[in-house]
Amino acid sequence: MTRPTGVTVDRDAIVHNLGIARQAAGAASLAAVVKANAYGHGLVEVARVVAPRADALAVACLEEGLALRQAGLTCPVLLLEGVFDAAELPTAAAAGFDIVVHEPEQVRALARGVLDTPVAVWIKVDTGMGRLGFDPADVAGIVESLGSVPAVATIGLITHLACGDEPSHPVTRTQLARFAELNELSVQWRSTANSAALMTGMETGDDWVRPGLMLYGASPRADRTAAELDLRPAMHFHSRLIAVRERPAGSTVGYGAGYTCPESMPVGVVAAGYGDGYPRHAPTGTPVGVDGERAPLIGRVSMDMLCVDLRNCPGVRPGAPVTLWGPGLPVDEIAGHAGTIPYDLLCGVTDRVPRTYQGVGHGET
Ligand SMILES: *Cc1c(COP(=O)(O)O)cnc(C)c1O
Repeated sequence: MTRPTGVTVDRDAIVHNLGIARQAAGAASLAAVVKANAYGHGLVEVARVVAPRADALAVACLEEGLALRQAGLTCPVLLLEGVFDAAELPTAAAAGFDIVVHEPEQVRALARGVLDTPVAVWIKVDTGMGRLGFDPADVAGIVESLGSVPAVATIGLITHLACGDEPSHPVTRTQLARFAELNELSVQWRSTANSAALMTGMETGDDWVRPGLMLYGASPRADRTAAELDLRPAMHFHSRLIAVRERPAGSTVGYGAGYTCPESMPVGVVAAGYGDGYPRHAPTGTPVGVDGERAPLIGRVSMDMLCVDLRNCPGVRPGAPVTLWGPGLPVDEIAGHAGTIPYDLLCGVTDRVPRTYQGVGHGET
């Protein structure tokens, strides 16, 4: 038996979730966010599924965009953080990427005329996220200076919400109001919404929405499960039991002797650990799916293994199928136990975990 740990990606779930995003987006165009290896699901494989059904793909950097082009994808691609160096501009433009500009040097580089290929530019506005972008007060001037650059084909305004899952949060209200104040500027496009804003039905007045997380079937809202939002998990992170041992009362399990058996009990060993991207900080009690039942994790997660209490699973044997997260065991729930967010877990599945793909999903190769 080869090591039984893997990720299965359900293309049909991604297609379904994209449909939910479309519905929420109304008439707005949709840029499907596939940065960070499509949140761990596989950049090119996911891009092939979503590109025919989205209006654009969005990635974090030039390298991710170029990987899409090398795979033969010709769709519009937005670089969410633009280029990291003016020297990358001609490559980005030649590849036909839309670029974000968020600081003056990027604007100056465009104005210096380093490009002969026209490019769509998105001006990043810091309306309150407090991270990247220009102050709203500076945006009119930037629109004006980019407007006279021949290689700038179109200009859009893009902003990002700090509390997108809380429509009535004062920061959200302020952000939307500041962005709305820029409505009088003459630009082609405006974009605010991520998954959370879409799934709370926030009125953003967007021309473009940018869902990421929801496409993969995790919930962008703290107060709603993915199932309540009709989102289906795209990732099944699975393994198998490689040992089942009856352990006496008082015996300890794993590094640091982190768990003591309260009675004689069966302990299962799963062939997955933090070296695969399972969170090391998941505590005793985190649910693990064993042969369709939930068995609590016990003791510390090791690099290649973790242990489970099999008292609820009488009779299971080595080889029994294990779900770390996926159908029936939402990644959001595991993230909650581990003190993190589903983004972190999905992106964190390591390279040694083979990805396989199921479902039709394809519309383009
Ligand atoms: C990652 C990202 C998104 C997608 O956010 P989700 O919460 O995953 O929907 C949207 N916009 C920008 C600028 C991003 O960096």
